[in-house]
Amino acid sequence: MLADYHVHTQFSDDSVYPMAQVVKDAVARGIQEICFTDHVDYGIKDDWDSGRPIVCRGDELLANVDYPLYFAQIRELQCLYETQITLKAGLEFGMQAHTVLQYETLFQKYPLDFVILSIHQIDDLEFWTQDFQRTRSQKEYHQRYYEEMLHLVNTYHNYSVLGHMDLIVRYDEKGVYPYEKIRPLVREILQVVIRDGKGIELNTSYHRYGLKDTTPSVHILQEYRELGGEMITIGSDSHTPAHLGAGLQEAKELLKSLGFRFFCTYDKMQPVFHPL
Ligand SMILES: [Zn+2]
Ligand SMILES: [Zn+2]
Repeated sequence: MLADYHVHTQFSDDSVYPMAQVVKDAVARGIQEICFTDHVDYGIKDDWDSGRPIVCRGDELLANVDYPLYFAQIRELQCLYETQITLKAGLEFGMQAHTVLQYETLFQKYPLDFVILSIHQIDDLEFWTQDFQRTRSQKEYHQRYYEEMLHLVNTYHNYSVLGHMDLIVRYDEKGVYPYEKIRPLVREILQVVIRDGKGIELNTSYHRYGLKDTTPSVHILQEYRELGGEMITIGSDSHTPAHLGAGLQEAKELLKSLGFRFFCTYDKMQPVFHPL
């Protein structure tokens, strides 16, 4: 069974891939289930109905998912494609310590199957622009990134999996930071995740970013397995047709080789286990 559990559409500010076309392409590629996980990044972006002017980056409008339209469109596509593919409603929460309350409110408001807890920025400073890293040493930005994650998993509980757990590596211009140095923090985070019945994701985007390791690294995947972690989703993090469903089968093989027996899909925030 192939399920892509990290999929962006035109409802994310960084994608123009029409949701209906995503579904058509997924069916054509033999994928049995997808979960839409469009971006919400409070602190950086406002909701459409916030009443404040929408921020622009060049000629792009920066805003979170238009929730009423999003959920309506997912429902419509679920009906239309009922016999061909299972479609789930998720969101990717780009959380920060100071935005937790906004996510609590959002989570209560809409019927979600699945939530990815990701960290894309800290103190409103983005990683992809280097704004967060610029004023810190490599040790400081790695340390701070995982400290923020530990704080979030200790504070916020309405999520399903931690997204691309070592994302900071993708935007680290200083080369490989030794795993041993962040291992104690990673272990602490994973222990909380497991204790709380949450999971992590294997994000197959490492190919297109040219990373030497997987996302998260094989070290982290092994650590999670050794600590008893079993809940893991597989997602392409696609924003364009070329990436939808990429690397799903390969990811399953990798997980199997690391001793995992299952991967997960989600229904109304409850995990469903599938043999690898
Ligand atoms: Zn992300
Ligand atoms: Zn994403």
